[in-house]
Amino acid sequence: MITRDSQIYNSLSRRKEKLITRKEGKLSFYSCGPTVYNLIHVGNLRSALVADLFYRFWKQIGFDVIFTRNYTDVDDKIIHRAQEDNLTAQEVAEKFIEEVEKDYEKAGCLDPTYRPRVTDTMMEIIGLIEQIVSRGSGYVIDGNVVFSVDSFKDYGKLSGKHLEDLEVGARVDRDTRKRNPLDFYLWKASKEGEPFWESPWGKGRPGWHIECSAMIQKLLGNQIDVHHGGSDLIFPHHENEIAQSEAGSGKAPFVRYWLHHAFVTINQEKMSKSLGNVFSAREFLNKFSGEMARYMFLTPHYRSPIDFSENAVWSAAKALERIYEAKNLAEDCVALSSQAIKNQAFEEFIAKISEEFYSAMSDDFHTPVAISKVFDLIKEYNRLAYQGSNDDKAGRAKSFLRFLSEVLVPIFGFGGDNSKEVLVRLSEIQKSIKGWDESGPEQLSATEIESFISERELARKQKDFKRSDKIRDELLAKGVELKDTPLGPKWSYR
Ligand SMILES: [Zn+2]
Repeated sequence: MITRDSQIYNSLSRRKEKLITRKEGKLSFYSCGPTVYNLIHVGNLRSALVADLFYRFWKQIGFDVIFTRNYTDVDDKIIHRAQEDNLTAQEVAEKFIEEVEKDYEKAGCLDPTYRPRVTDTMMEIIGLIEQIVSRGSGYVIDGNVVFSVDSFKDYGKLSGKHLEDLEVGARVDRDTRKRNPLDFYLWKASKEGEPFWESPWGKGRPGWHIECSAMIQKLLGNQIDVHHGGSDLIFPHHENEIAQSEAGSGKAPFVRYWLHHAFVTINQEKMSKSLGNVFSAREFLNKFSGEMARYMFLTPHYRSPIDFSENAVWSAAKALERIYEAKNLAEDCVALSSQAIKNQAFEEFIAKISEEFYSAMSDDFHTPVAISKVFDLIKEYNRLAYQGSNDDKAGRAKSFLRFLSEVLVPIFGFGGDNSKEVLVRLSEIQKSIKGWDESGPEQLSATEIESFISERELARKQKDFKRSDKIRDELLAKGVELKDTPLGPKWSYR
């Protein structure tokens, strides 16, 4: 059962539309995946995370989602890498698929329903090209098959480009064999030493665009609900996918809703000086964490560019810390009583927050607003946490934790780990980020702080308050603030 209506921005119509799927309760979803010739970069990671967010949210509101993300395992870049590394193209692709899967897993991405590869889709690719040729939209030259853009009257409908304007630009490096300079290859005759497949047009391999059309036709059908990718894929890749699929099947629209996310921009100068070489997803995930990636790439709106900077990394660490501090407090409070009492007013507050959270997510995945609602709840919970009896404290804490596990974690995929472990890790991360800023003071590590705190606790037990105050002041001078709470001392970097 679908629990709510949602609006999504359709790049095809250039406006927000109500999401109505072809089959009630079912949603067919395709997202363009990476070419596997290297480790993926942070831009690819954003793409995977955005698709993962869509997938999680649609599942959460009740859709039966069939999610397909491909691997491009036949490509010039792969062949080139294979020659460099003295491997076969297949070995290169195999190796990097394995590596990319590790990154996806570390970033907390759910497995898609299907993860097709070009090499497993060859029969369907050839079949679709035959369909296109037989319907008069493809022509053969010297073992190559080329798509004729003039045969497809809707060419340009996604990108908003006009054939005449495009032709002027394309004429510059004209491939004279093509009827129109914008015509693109569906099948390329293989050159000496390249991997090839047998086809009705001779030995060759598919052009890039055809794979997505063929995989979709094979796994999801001739017409699907949602297609996603980076905005850099709108032209020509997605424009060509539409042309191939609609010309091949004779059915339109190929895709009901086209969703595109924005770039990851990098503050070059600052990055090279301070962040070092954190450009591959692997480096980011190792240096920080999967949850940090999720926070950084999912809490800005998917159609806004993300500036990948030290500041953004720092803010993500601070924000996750606030979430985990509240979670840690709630876990401690739950332990105070086995007779938790529900607090009516707080329950109502959570219900209101949930409603606002889902409304924001249903408004074209407005994650900045959705996450601000989570912080409104955290603020309110922190304010009330110590009020009333232990039974009251445990009751509020339970309700708060339920919101995290039933709303935040399933949709955003962060906030679900062990709070004590994550807090230690986050303070280490913050320390490492601080280290980049050479002007900043040297910071204590979490372990160092903990040892100061236990020393202070000992002094307090021995009623040596002069000593315990001295330790607190020392910590403060080193930029660490200590707060005494009913659950013991809590510290944070100032
Ligand atoms: Zn694609």
